[in-house]
Amino acid sequence: MPSKQAVRLLIKARWIIPVVPANRVLENCAIAIKGQKIIAITPWEEAEKRFQAEQTLNLENHILIPGLINAHGHAAMNLLRGYADDYPLETWLNEHIWPAEAKHVDAEFVRDGTELAIAEMIRSGTTCFADMYFFPEQAAQVARRAHIRAQITFPILDFPTAWGDGPDDYFAKGLALHDEYRADDLIRIGFGPHAPYTVSDQHLQRVATLAGELEAPVQIHLHETAKEVSDALEQTGKRPIARLQELGLLTPQTQCVHMTELDEQDIGTIANSGAHVIHCPESNLKLASGFCPVHKLGQAGINVALGTDGAASNNNLNMLEEMQTAALLAKAVSQNPAAMNAHQALACATINGAKALGIDQVTGSLEVGKSADICALQIDDLANLPLYDPAAAIAYNNRALKVSHVWAAGRALLLSGHLQTLNERDIKARTQVWAGRIHPNNGSTP
Ligand SMILES: [Zn+2]
Repeated sequence: MPSKQAVRLLIKARWIIPVVPANRVLENCAIAIKGQKIIAITPWEEAEKRFQAEQTLNLENHILIPGLINAHGHAAMNLLRGYADDYPLETWLNEHIWPAEAKHVDAEFVRDGTELAIAEMIRSGTTCFADMYFFPEQAAQVARRAHIRAQITFPILDFPTAWGDGPDDYFAKGLALHDEYRADDLIRIGFGPHAPYTVSDQHLQRVATLAGELEAPVQIHLHETAKEVSDALEQTGKRPIARLQELGLLTPQTQCVHMTELDEQDIGTIANSGAHVIHCPESNLKLASGFCPVHKLGQAGINVALGTDGAASNNNLNMLEEMQTAALLAKAVSQNPAAMNAHQALACATINGAKALGIDQVTGSLEVGKSADICALQIDDLANLPLYDPAAAIAYNNRALKVSHVWAAGRALLLSGHLQTLNERDIKARTQVWAGRIHPNNGSTP
């Protein structure tokens, strides 16, 4: 009898939705993990015959899915959760968020806010996030410590901020950071020009040139509101998408966030460029920014990923909820209940995110040879019974699910609901200190 192959971990699960191939639900299968990678997905009995595991985990009431990918956010803004609600984007930014940031944001704010955000993301099944914020070196360090996968884009704006004196300083610091993480397995550094209305042609062009040379990702807020587009037309005579295309900034490395105000020509330009769209439905709904026409984008062959945006405009970083909102909103906007089905919603939150971030060879699906980035959802709550379709339970009824286990690159980040790489008590204590500083009345009765 041939000897068994040694593996580190064998996860036996009631259901597995690998996402690739699409629309597939496997029953009573196991995932074998060796080192950081998935080396087999096979029926239970077969797995027991083939593998000698250091550890075997029986998840008999669970669904395994790829770790979720939150493709857009500002993690440190978790410290501004609930700080300014119910304003439109311009008022929210100009009168509330930017003044609060000017007053409070420094390296410590970003370190502590990012840690709070990562803890929240891990607990809701996310194994990879894309971030755009000041002091990106802090975010990268926290992500590395937490052992979560991340794309950290350093911000480029035309004006000075707490992080730097202006564009030259941002480029110098950002490029040094890119260099530092060049060989990192989990963290990738990219360019984060904030938006067409905060970055001049000269600096957008510089981003395009450098990102091309370094093969680095670029993430930009784009066509977030109708006003952004009409103001741009008034000031430049061009729609922002047309301007970015002229500047050479729309490429397969470009991630366009929001995209609510799009005409047929805009959609054609994006489709031809190979750029990706990051849809943030809850942020768009909350700021009344508009609706991203995801169904039309899909028909045009454009890759659509999902992001939560920052906690200040959401107010959480839960990708399961974002998936549900995306699916329901796509149906409403297109007046077509088949506009985004449960499997498509799950793909937006996993493999499409990996494609947008340029890491789909590594993550985004449960496949042999890919990184063991896995989320386990416990599904024995009566609110999910009877369970005919696990994908539908995830997309349409995820409040009745519990994220129980999470692994990134084979390492456990969450076991039976407990964080493994971060200290929850410590994070809560530091958040309370910040809450007192940012909003002095916080926690006390008036
Ligand atoms: Zn954003």
